Amino acid sequence: MDRLIYLDNAATTKTAPEVVEAMLPYFTEKFGNPSSVYSFAASNKEDITCQRERIAEVLGANANEIYFTAGGSESDNWALKATAEAYQDKGNHIITTKIEHHAILHTGEYLEKRGFEVTYLDVDEEGKVKLEDLKAAIRPTTILISVMYANNEIGTIEPIKEIGEIAHEHGILFHTDAVQAFGQVPINVDECHIDMLSASGHKLNGPKGIGFLYIRKGVKIRSFVHGGSQERKRRAGTENVPGIIGLGTAVKRAADTMEDRAKKETQLRDYLIERVLAEIPYCKLNGHRTDRLPNNANFSFRFIEGESLLIMLDMKGICGSSGSACTSGSLDPSHVLLAIGLPHEIAHGSLRLTLNEEITKEEIDYVVESLKEIVTRLRSMSPLYEDFIKKQGN
Ligand SMILES: *Cc1c(COP(=O)(O)O)cnc(C)c1O
Repeated sequence: MDRLIYLDNAATTKTAPEVVEAMLPYFTEKFGNPSSVYSFAASNKEDITCQRERIAEVLGANANEIYFTAGGSESDNWALKATAEAYQDKGNHIITTKIEHHAILHTGEYLEKRGFEVTYLDVDEEGKVKLEDLKAAIRPTTILISVMYANNEIGTIEPIKEIGEIAHEHGILFHTDAVQAFGQVPINVDECHIDMLSASGHKLNGPKGIGFLYIRKGVKIRSFVHGGSQERKRRAGTENVPGIIGLGTAVKRAADTMEDRAKKETQLRDYLIERVLAEIPYCKLNGHRTDRLPNNANFSFRFIEGESLLIMLDMKGICGSSGSACTSGSLDPSHVLLAIGLPHEIAHGSLRLTLNEEITKEEIDYVVESLKEIVTRLRSMSPLYEDFIKKQGN
């Protein structure tokens, strides 16, 4: 079986060939340090500025509000820790949600150990933050609200504009982890009242280990790395020049192709969802039916173990991801699936398939046929399923 159908684009994406091509000269002839004075190297500084401008334009921001980082996790850490520290005179309370990426959740726990108070908002059954809950959680000491733009597991897109409005009405800073959304849906930082935004190269067909944090002008934020004067003295260290060139190229490419890509992926995503729900019994879609990322489908199959499902899909050349906490290697079901109210045993039987623009309808058909076969086989081995069917028969 030499077929490979990659449906795990929420985990990472293939670096686009034009991105690789744009990066290559910066490993070889253009290797200079952008901080050097001679023109050979100083031109790299201009090339970096050019990427900053490209990214800022896509967000409706200014180039000097874009700070390059080593990726989404660093941007999330920086946004939370540095704001907490810079605004601690004003208060010690932060509001976020139960469905954030661990880069936010674990940073929240870190801050709690250092005297900050963190409210983790519940979400509804489709994964959306409830605006009344957000308003009720606000205290005079609240300094920051951090809500992800779109969820990485179930694809639900949050009411970001409304959340931004609420934050600003109360004079509270608003950060959004847009690592999944940026490059898939249009984002304007002014329209959505966003003060800080995290993004990552490798989730949008750019390189790994590079990302950025947008920080609105006027936001007091501490340096994240002390040292040289790179990134307006806020994040020291010789710039990852090839990475920055790759990121800027990937962002431009994503913005230029967004409309067509989203249309194509939404169509195939809906085709996949409709077929799976119609042809596989005891199965549900997780996340919001329409307010979801164009490339995301997430299902729960009753009486199935997600890990077994993944292994059998792998044997058919299909790459997906399950609902358990993949990174920790633990078998706890995903915190996101629990937060939308799935019982443990159903959360365990979950499968996330995230598309890219190269996927064809024929491949989706192959995936659905494979899934049908595998689910039937796994259920035929399940004593729980056997019991359930017997009871149904009575
Ligand atoms: C992938 C991801 C991150 C982490 O980004 P890295 O660049 O891998 O550090 C953070 N938040 C979300 C929502 C993600 O999907």
